[in-house]
Amino acid sequence: MKYKRILLKLSGEALSGDQGYGINGEVLDQISDEVMTLNEMGVEVAIVIGGGNIHRGVAGATKGMDRTTSDHMGMLATIINSLALQDALERKGVYTRVLSAIKMQEICEPYIRRRAVRHLEKKRVIIFAAGTGNPYFTTDTAAALRANEIDADLIMKATKVDGIYDKDPVLHKDAVKFDELKYIEVLNRGIKVMDSAAISLCMDNDIEIRVFNMFEKGNIQKVVIGEQIGTKVVK
Ligand code: UDP
Repeated sequence: MKYKRILLKLSGEALSGDQGYGINGEVLDQISDEVMTLNEMGVEVAIVIGGGNIHRGVAGATKGMDRTTSDHMGMLATIINSLALQDALERKGVYTRVLSAIKMQEICEPYIRRRAVRHLEKKRVIIFAAGTGNPYFTTDTAAALRANEIDADLIMKATKVDGIYDKDPVLHKDAVKFDELKYIEVLNRGIKVMDSAAISLCMDNDIEIRVFNMFEKGNIQKVVIGEQIGTKVVK
């Protein structure tokens, strides 16, 4: 295995499937199957999950809501998604812990770095909920931050397409896929694969990002054994 400890970043939208809102049971099942496979391979898996399928801070703020309050709602949405994923994984027999950046002891553990690492060593899947715990951030930045804190070998950014293209492959038939890009190219070209704060954090600390299609069966395993799947973002 090329990567022993990975951080998987899932957007909230990924959970909604074609319905565009909320949580789709079939998608959840598919995602948990892939995570279970990684767990069975002995890969240490940490997950950061977004909340865009339920609430996005910016969307609320554009309708006049206080931005911080709206971001708090967004972070709560990530907790809902985390619990749904934990439930799906545990139904398959995968030991899972949700660690929240906002204390919610009756529901999940608070985020404590050393505890997170210990869970990983015991081969429990951990799900980081509530982003960074701060408004004005995104779960992409939370993924970059936590990946650094737990010393992950790789951030796996799951998308619906199989990597980064020079233009939207859904709209343009002649779009060309990149096998590899430098962090600085992602920033300079304004590629919206992860927000710039997340890319910068990865660039400063040299943590590799792989953008790939998680919904193609077997892709996730191929990435961890080192096959060229999706697009690599490196130094
Ligand atoms: N959020 C936040 N701080 C964080 C992470 C998330 O305030 O550290 C809020 C923010 O409002 C964001 C929402 O949670 O819009 C959902 O996260 P995100 O948009 O990253 O979800 P995704 O696009 O991955 O579904």
